Amino acid sequence: MSEKTPIETRHLRPATRLVHGGTMRSQFGETSEALFLTQGYVYETMEQAEARFKGEAPGFLYSRFSNPTVAMFERRMAELEGAEAARATASGMAAVTASVMGQVKAGDHIVAAKALFGSCRYVVEELMPRFGVACTLVDGTDLTQWKAAMRPNTKVLFLESPTNPQLEIIDIAAVAKIAHEGGAALTVDNVFATPLLQSPLELGADCVVYSATKHVDGQGRCLGGIILASEQFIQEKIHNLLRQTGPALSPFNAWVLLKSLETLPVRVNQQMQSAIRLADYLAGKPGVLRVLYPTRKDHPQYELAQKQMRGGGTVFSFVLASKEAAFRFANALKIVKISNNLGDAKSIITHPATTTHQRLSLDARLDMGIPEGLLRFSVGLEDVEDLIDDVNRGLSVI
Ligand SMILES: *Cc1c(COP(=O)(O)O)cnc(C)c1O
Repeated sequence: MSEKTPIETRHLRPATRLVHGGTMRSQFGETSEALFLTQGYVYETMEQAEARFKGEAPGFLYSRFSNPTVAMFERRMAELEGAEAARATASGMAAVTASVMGQVKAGDHIVAAKALFGSCRYVVEELMPRFGVACTLVDGTDLTQWKAAMRPNTKVLFLESPTNPQLEIIDIAAVAKIAHEGGAALTVDNVFATPLLQSPLELGADCVVYSATKHVDGQGRCLGGIILASEQFIQEKIHNLLRQTGPALSPFNAWVLLKSLETLPVRVNQQMQSAIRLADYLAGKPGVLRVLYPTRKDHPQYELAQKQMRGGGTVFSFVLASKEAAFRFANALKIVKISNNLGDAKSIITHPATTTHQRLSLDARLDMGIPEGLLRFSVGLEDVEDLIDDVNRGLSVI
């Protein structure tokens, strides 16, 4: 590695940060960021090894701790998010688990919104209580429930907004205030909004987590995750936990994700324009009971979405009369793929009630606003006219 410090791009606009941010060039002066597929590092002298281990000299020690390619990815994400520090992980769930575990000890309490990605809900609802950390689930859109759930030992508030798959909006600034008044910290899973469309740290959150598997890769290849926060938060709560427990991101995956960041704004913006077009197209069509998209005027939290988001994202949901109608619609599609991922270049349709949310009871699903006829549509990079033709195939059979 050259001794040159990474290019600093924090003063530049997001698209520029995503092309240049965090780049560290080796002695070869390569244009494209290098892939350092190495486990370890050699030292010139014993003295240098000693200094590095003591943290008195800069440099890498072992790729479970850090790696130049992973460090470039972390730096680029931190600059995009406007965070002081970032730590990458092997998957989004590794990021969520470490961010929650790093903040609590036995006897503490977590408050989380009910409408969480299934595995996130497992972590707070089933895993953490095994270690003596209690959890209260609330309707995230109801601020009185957040307030009522606070206890003297509450350390973490956790939410996703927009939620999956109802695309409800939770007031991040208001929940952050409740957290801080109670001496707790707010962590936001910002996957659905992406760093381009919502900045939880600016709204008062203390920690942001992503599954980089989604829009950051955006092309269906690698799993990855990242935790972003202040330097102090990362040092006190995250740094040692990750180093000693080892959910490290592979350098190869970090390289793919780093290069993908260069095109993130182009992709997310195009996918979002198509999502707006398709949501509007479906709304009011016979058999379509409701369309859910944060920046549509008929969204119940339109005002809040306008206030805290810079755009509605690349995913919308819509409700048909029944599970059978939803199945017929999805089975008739030729371009849109049936899968459970999102943020991909390929458009994807999901039936949450029988896949991502099938673990929940019917009552729990209805309580969360996930009827049997709901379909989630993650809009890809295909020509939107072809997607509209495909949607018409679905509409013709419901
Ligand atoms: C996918 C996803 C996760 C988990 O990420 P993985 O990379 O699959 O581990 C967490 N939260 C949300 C909102 C997600 O969409």
